[in-house]
Amino acid sequence: MFDALSERLEQAWTKLRGQDKISESNVKDALREVRRALLEADVNLQIVKDFVAEVEQKALGAEVVQGVRPDQQFIEVVYNELVQVMGEANVPLAEAPSKPTIVLMAGLQGTGKTTASAKLALHLRKEERTTLLVATDVYRPAAIDQLVALGKQINIPVFELGTSADPVEIARQGVEKARADGFDVVIVDTAGRLQIDQEMMGELARIKETIQPHETLLVVDAMTGQEAANLTRTFHDQIGITGAILTKLDGDTRGGAALSVRRISGQPIKFVGVGEKVDALQPFYPDRMASRILG
Ligand code: GDP
Repeated sequence: MFDALSERLEQAWTKLRGQDKISESNVKDALREVRRALLEADVNLQIVKDFVAEVEQKALGAEVVQGVRPDQQFIEVVYNELVQVMGEANVPLAEAPSKPTIVLMAGLQGTGKTTASAKLALHLRKEERTTLLVATDVYRPAAIDQLVALGKQINIPVFELGTSADPVEIARQGVEKARADGFDVVIVDTAGRLQIDQEMMGELARIKETIQPHETLLVVDAMTGQEAANLTRTFHDQIGITGAILTKLDGDTRGGAALSVRRISGQPIKFVGVGEKVDALQPFYPDRMASRILG
């Protein structure tokens, strides 16, 4: 695990040899390596600073355990802290006390929101929960077609009213239909723009107000790296999210966006997207992500 960081720490740690306590002076080089590893993993700078400060607090004064190499002991502290910050265990999708559980999907265009909606529906089927998908992105005709095509592919129904209807109204009717037809879950896919824009946020807020979702999931492209922090802040401040889906983790990104999303929103990442195919969705596990981020 974390071969690259371990190796660097080993070098940074020569100073500690022969000492029996982790102190400010001997921990400095090691902390610098942790900082570098996190920045390389594209964790947002401010979050790196805060995290490193916390690790320093935890590590300082710790007795060096007999028979355990101090660099390994230190890396345990870093790893455990990272797992803890990311929530320790997987948090499953909410389940409403009465059907349907309403899920609102939010995020920028191209992040994988529509794909994630279909992936989630397929995932829920494995848990024997039925889903209705709702297509509200009337701005890009191809978006509705895309969701309809994905629905066909996995045999999940898609509710849509074409491109001339009001997205808020589509969402409202979609949820009504899911309720009337006894679906367990209704997933409302929404329009995204290439950049955050107030019109999109306003519409999303109106949809949320109308359908009162149990889950508002922010879909974040893991490749956006540092930007994930600003994106999360804006969506969480303006809309309020209950969780996130981190997509495109099959790429070579180390996934630092996960730490940013969690840290800024305080909400769990629930799933990760690991490919273009509709079955490429996995539950999010903080320990695995911590290993990946540390490299
Ligand atoms: P939306 O605009 O947010 O709805 O994004 P789409 O669902 O249309 O996805 C945009 C592109 O990203 C498509 O080409 C998807 O196939 C691709 N995509 C979505 N999720 C993943 C993923 O987890 N991994 C990879 N490699 N590609 C993905």
